[in-house]
Amino acid sequence: MKRRNSWLENCGSLLLIIVMWTAVPADAAPLNVLATTGMIADVAANVGGDLVSMTALMGPGVDPHLYQATAGDVGRMRKADIILYNGLHLEAGIQKVLEKMDEKAVAVTDDIPREKLLPWENTYDPHVWMDPSLWKIVVGTIRDILSARDPEHADTYRQQAAAYLEQLEDLNAHVSAQIASIPEARRTLITAHDAFNYFSQAYDIEVRALMGISTETEAGTKDVQDLAAFIAETRVKAMFIESSVPEKYVKAVQKAVEQKGFDVQIGGELFSDAMGEEGTPEGTYIGMITHNADTIARALK
Ligand SMILES: [Zn+2]
Repeated sequence: MKRRNSWLENCGSLLLIIVMWTAVPADAAPLNVLATTGMIADVAANVGGDLVSMTALMGPGVDPHLYQATAGDVGRMRKADIILYNGLHLEAGIQKVLEKMDEKAVAVTDDIPREKLLPWENTYDPHVWMDPSLWKIVVGTIRDILSARDPEHADTYRQQAAAYLEQLEDLNAHVSAQIASIPEARRTLITAHDAFNYFSQAYDIEVRALMGISTETEAGTKDVQDLAAFIAETRVKAMFIESSVPEKYVKAVQKAVEQKGFDVQIGGELFSDAMGEEGTPEGTYIGMITHNADTIARALK
């Protein structure tokens, strides 16, 4: 009797496994999506929800201009269903690896009309996430990429993208109000590298940086002296460090300004090319841009 029961139980388990196998088709597994930066991964996670399993190659504090792929990264790229990267030469160090991944690797900035981009060398300034109205175009692109790969859930992607786009509207209004609250004469943003040109254009604030659009070229003594002279002359209250750039650059400028007889404050840390730690408010795209606007307004007012 005991023996018979156990046979029946086994039979039942087997049946259950067969039922589950047929009820959950293999294609219901979440899409394996790999993004280069946290900002792109955050958009895809919001648009994809439970339907995607997201991984970001570059974590908090990582500089995408200088990032080099590890052997593990190449393996992750091969296994991914979709690879989302910024493009416009942001990921300079992994461009060649991305090109080898063929059509499953997509630049999320591809749909932004070129006339909305700021020219830079042979391409365009890649820091488009600094303007939420441009980042909204990227949300649409990611929605379309996910829908094309998984058409069965296109409605869900559309709804989730629409909800996220509404949040970006609110973000834009908040940043506008914060920057507009700084008296116009004090609206100058000084950072380590030139990541804020789209922010400047969107919110009417002048920007100056020690290094160029990319951190691939280090700042020289002349760059430090020129920026220090500008700060001492215009008496800008504060300059800002960036989470993905060593703070020694901004500290060097601060010291050079001091030698010219003026004290410039460090207004805080901004998240330019990477989000903050996971689990903190700055660990999301909306949180990082909100933090930047709040920090800039607080220091310059
Ligand atoms: Zn940058």
